Amino acid sequence: MNKSCLGLRNVGTQTPVVKQCPQGGLEVEFFSDEQQVRCSVCGAVVRK
Ligand SMILES: [Zn+2]
Repeated sequence: MNKSCLGLRNVGTQTPVVKQCPQGGLEVEFFSDEQQVRCSVCGAVVRK
């Protein structure tokens, strides 16, 4: 019971936000605690 409750809570706090890379147009995923992510294809920094 307790384990399943914690699992659901963890999923709820990590909602990914999808932004588009300004250079390549590839989708980059942000997680709730990240302010910027480097695009894995072209290396551009994408800000939230
Ligand atoms: Zn890119």
